[in-house]
Amino acid sequence: MPVKGKVAENIYEVNMEEEFDFGVIGSGPGGYTSALNAAAAGKKVVLFEKDLIGGVCLNRGCIPTKTMLHSAEIYEMINNSNDFGIDVDDYKVNFSKIMERKRTVVDKLRSGLERAFKNAGILTVNAKAKIIDKNTIEADGKIYICKKIIAATGSHPRILKGMEYDHKFILSSDDVLNFEKLPKSMVIVGSGAIGIEFSRIFSSLGVEVKIVEIAENLLPLADIEVSKRVERIFKSQDIEFLTKTSVNKIEKCENSVKVYVSNGKVFNASCVLLAVGRVPNEIEKIDGVSYIGDVTGSIQLAHFASKQALEEVADIPFDESLVPFVVYGEPEIAWVGKREQDLESGTYQKAMIPISALAKSNCDNALDGMMKILVRENKIIGAHIVSKEASSLLQQLVISMQMGVTTEQLKAVCFAHPTYSEGILECLMRLK
Ligand SMILES: Cc1cc2nc3c(=O)[nH]c(=O)nc-3n(C[C@H](O)[C@H](O)[C@H](O)COP(=O)(O)OP(=O)(O)OC[C@H]3O[C@@H](n4cnc5c(N)ncnc54)[C@H](O)[C@@H]3O)c2cc1C
Repeated sequence: MPVKGKVAENIYEVNMEEEFDFGVIGSGPGGYTSALNAAAAGKKVVLFEKDLIGGVCLNRGCIPTKTMLHSAEIYEMINNSNDFGIDVDDYKVNFSKIMERKRTVVDKLRSGLERAFKNAGILTVNAKAKIIDKNTIEADGKIYICKKIIAATGSHPRILKGMEYDHKFILSSDDVLNFEKLPKSMVIVGSGAIGIEFSRIFSSLGVEVKIVEIAENLLPLADIEVSKRVERIFKSQDIEFLTKTSVNKIEKCENSVKVYVSNGKVFNASCVLLAVGRVPNEIEKIDGVSYIGDVTGSIQLAHFASKQALEEVADIPFDESLVPFVVYGEPEIAWVGKREQDLESGTYQKAMIPISALAKSNCDNALDGMMKILVRENKIIGAHIVSKEASSLLQQLVISMQMGVTTEQLKAVCFAHPTYSEGILECLMRLK
């Protein structure tokens, strides 16, 4: 029965029958995993999304980037096809088709998600939600009473003071995903996963790319040997980069930008992409509400948000120290657990192989890479891979670590030949 209720300054119509088990704010990986799994468990769920269903991951993150990257990889493959005995004469990049395909993939996945919400009986409210208290959400002038509120409201690109995005020359990751045509040249500031992936996409497609990174090495969050290997690979792929260098000023000219960097150099480019991290979106912080995913400012990865969601709604715990990191492109870069630079010498064992040691990498001519496994008391504490298929390869080690499998048990596993997986055995057999 509808009754009048006073909430904050306003009087709202409160429909007491509309009480939900879960009120989920945000429809990215954190939000949709929460909503779908709560609904699957028979809970009554309302989900709020102020923008496109699917959040950053589906609309402006994981999916559009990997779709574009795949096109870039196909182009690279054709460029090198001659090495594999395939002569291709006439080919070129059709960038508008790449972008059209990206939109098709994203739209298809978004419709699938919308359908899944509908089939699961989730009420979707396309409006900005405001948390009033731990059981009350207001959206579009309506009140929703929820036994539990989960806020998975995500993050946005960091803004650098004095270098604000103008969406034409000074760009965020959102902007470059909407390019209508390829720029001639681009300075990418920052070499985290986003900077590295975009540098691979655009340089493969023929854009002159220059990366500027303030830290000592590319991919500053990676194991130092991984960073150094990536630098070597980038040199061989003619992707220019400067480390220990910061951007002092960006000056807009008529049709280009001038980028002033800390070593005194000035670079001219068609545009600058600032890939300098992401900041949690603003949302009311209220005791008793669960905050998950990027909005927590913790690990900003889609699978981290999803695992936090499962912990909230399905009571499935997970080990935050075993979250895998993957940077896509050829070769992939993937790691989990401890980095070598954080370990005290003498407290661990190390085994390492070059990926070229594997027969499969020779078949594929994907030779530049490495696998490193760090071990303490017969258990793996860190794994670092630069290789084709590194993402799938790493997952085998993540499972082993999570299950507490010993190196002796892993050595007893039969790995298929020729595969990249057999590198795990190869690596472990080198442990002293
Ligand atoms: C270019 C790029 C590439 C990436 N690639 C990868 C990758 O390969 N792998 C990976 O794991 N991660 C990747 N990420 C990171 C990944 O996208 C995020 O970690 C993930 O989307 C976080 O999920 P989330 O649910 O926390 O929030 P989001 O996906 O950001 O979703 C939050 C949603 O909440 C909505 N919202 C916010 N406030 C409100 C409100 N008050 N009311 C209603 N709705 C609201 C927003 O509109 C948004 O849709 C990438 C990110 C970027 C930018």
